[in-house]
Amino acid sequence: MTAPKCRLCSAELDQTFVDLGMSPPCESYLREDQLDQGETFYPLHVRVCSECLLVQLPAYIPAEDIFSDYAYFSSYSDSWVRHAAAFVDQAVERLDLDEDSFVVEVASNDGYLLQHSIARGIRSLGIEPAGNIAEVAVAKGVPTEVMFLGEETGRKVADIHGRADLVAANNVFAHVPDIVDFSRGLRELVADDGYVSIEIPHLLRLIDGNEYDTIYHEHYSYLSLLTTQRVLATAGLSVVDVQELASHGGSLRTWSTPTANAGPPSAAVAKVLEDERNAGLHTVEGHRGFAEQVGRVRDDLLEFLIGCRRAGRKVAAYGAPGKGNTLLNHCGIRADLISFAVDRSPHKHGLFLPGTHIPISPVERLAEEQPDVIVIMPWNLRAEISAQLEYTRDWGAQLVVALPRLETV
Ligand SMILES: [Zn+2]
Repeated sequence: MTAPKCRLCSAELDQTFVDLGMSPPCESYLREDQLDQGETFYPLHVRVCSECLLVQLPAYIPAEDIFSDYAYFSSYSDSWVRHAAAFVDQAVERLDLDEDSFVVEVASNDGYLLQHSIARGIRSLGIEPAGNIAEVAVAKGVPTEVMFLGEETGRKVADIHGRADLVAANNVFAHVPDIVDFSRGLRELVADDGYVSIEIPHLLRLIDGNEYDTIYHEHYSYLSLLTTQRVLATAGLSVVDVQELASHGGSLRTWSTPTANAGPPSAAVAKVLEDERNAGLHTVEGHRGFAEQVGRVRDDLLEFLIGCRRAGRKVAAYGAPGKGNTLLNHCGIRADLISFAVDRSPHKHGLFLPGTHIPISPVERLAEEQPDVIVIMPWNLRAEISAQLEYTRDWGAQLVVALPRLETV
């Protein structure tokens, strides 16, 4: 077998970061009539490049198959819309944006962010690959081009609309297979004295927090500040500042500008790079402990669930988020170990989790069946959810999370 090539530097990817085995795409929930059919599994084998250190998942599933008819509308999440509004406020202040400015957002979704810049009278344009979602944005009054960003499409947009003072790419960078061509597209879109703002889940936080359920097929690159700098540099962009955010388990927001316009980077850039260096992220060897951490999570969880089954204790899962499927499939947990999952989203009721075929029910099923153990899948919301599940203590339910380590809440 020939090793896949690094998407940044083309070196052979012969170093494993973590191999989670085979998994179906995490959002492909199944209907009952599909349970008797075959299901496609893809590898979740994450590599680290020994040349440039980019941690990456080969594009086992092409982005076109995932994002062209994407079902996720950003405006459905209140906290995400608030996050976008705060971002626009900050960008306006930082870059002195006004009625003469031009803002472009890449992966603009349903206009959840640009609606805020438009409200301030700033000319704004969205770029969004999913036609069904772009339609919603346009209906809202957010001009949107339907396309995937690359060097060629970026130039085309700049020819028609001019170059932007701010190009925002929030939580898309890690989801692009050809990250080099995408970065060149960003450079095409931005004015020579303009800025590009990118938000990415931070690899350092993924490792620190053992957040291995954020590994899934649509998440192609797992970036540090160092590797982000390296990717952007290939497109003539330099990172001049960075902010650490709490979103998505710990993210970075980088500010970059065309290299000729860039002064020395801020103290924050030096600080984050130092943190990464201290954690070992600036060497290949420093990446080696993660697989072992993940193995421990699996062993602990399986041991616990098998113990529950032997003791005749019934186990349910709270929450059926797409990312929980990485954990369940990696651990080989099926309905024999977790009888059912409950979720607040009515769209998922009556469906089954991909790969594991655990049925998804309304939350009321907890009160009806009174399971002895409830595994909280969105472990990052453990405080909020355990408060919501206070009533389950009446029948003595034990609430647990599997990540970052197995714990009773
Ligand atoms: Zn590389």
